Amino acid sequence: MTTDRTDVDHLVVAVDGPSGTGKSSTARGVARALGLRYLDTGAMYRAMTWALLQRGVDVSDPSAVAAESPTVELGSGTDPDRPVITADGTDVSQPIRGPDVTQAVSAVSAVPEVRAQLLAMQRRLIGAGGIVVEGRDIGAVVAPDAAVKVFLTAATDARARRRSSQDGGVTANLGLTAADLARRDRLDSGRAASPFAQAADAVVLDTTDLTLDEAVEAVVVLARRALAPDRAGPVREPGGNEAH
Ligand code: C5P
Repeated sequence: MTTDRTDVDHLVVAVDGPSGTGKSSTARGVARALGLRYLDTGAMYRAMTWALLQRGVDVSDPSAVAAESPTVELGSGTDPDRPVITADGTDVSQPIRGPDVTQAVSAVSAVPEVRAQLLAMQRRLIGAGGIVVEGRDIGAVVAPDAAVKVFLTAATDARARRRSSQDGGVTANLGLTAADLARRDRLDSGRAASPFAQAADAVVLDTTDLTLDEAVEAVVVLARRALAPDRAGPVREPGGNEAH
């Protein structure tokens, strides 16, 4: 097997895990390093949630959510340097990070009709491959044939610290941030429709003590191995040079 463009063009790298594990930064870094597209499926669930809240839908009512969601027009770019997400033509990249959306998104993403709608869109965007896809169910459900599947984990306090710094200190209380992470983990893992679960064949990467560059490099090495197992060379320790 060789590392020709055809292989890279068909490569799918699935990056799953809970929030605060460095998932987005790692997935974007891997896409940049390998020249791949990038898809943030969490942003899609957030954009759907934002649109439903804007329309005054009671997001705690699954049938109301299921009735309204097909009329929401989502758009997702795949540029790792500028991941734009739109709802009904409006760029919602910023507002989907707000606390109201974060509070409501687990309820919306638990509705089977929403999952089916976004799954179809995600598979369309993945197309023939050449993409890094991040989320909760990518390796298990969205792209079960992905050549690279990584599941990121991190210690709770490290996750809360990262989440809090992403919020720009909005949730300055680390205890509250940790409690909110635990609440979303519980809801996402306990739902009936496609519960958040690690794919059996995913490689677990604990990012607690890794820098972003080290996490990116660890996934890049896995991708290179998948592209050319005989030419990827030995796996280096995080922080070493890239394997060729
Ligand atoms: O990754 P992020 O924290 O932005 O995801 C927001 C929410 O979207 C998650 O808490 C989860 O409820 C939902 N989600 C999902 N399936 C995915 C990605 C995200 O259910 N593939």
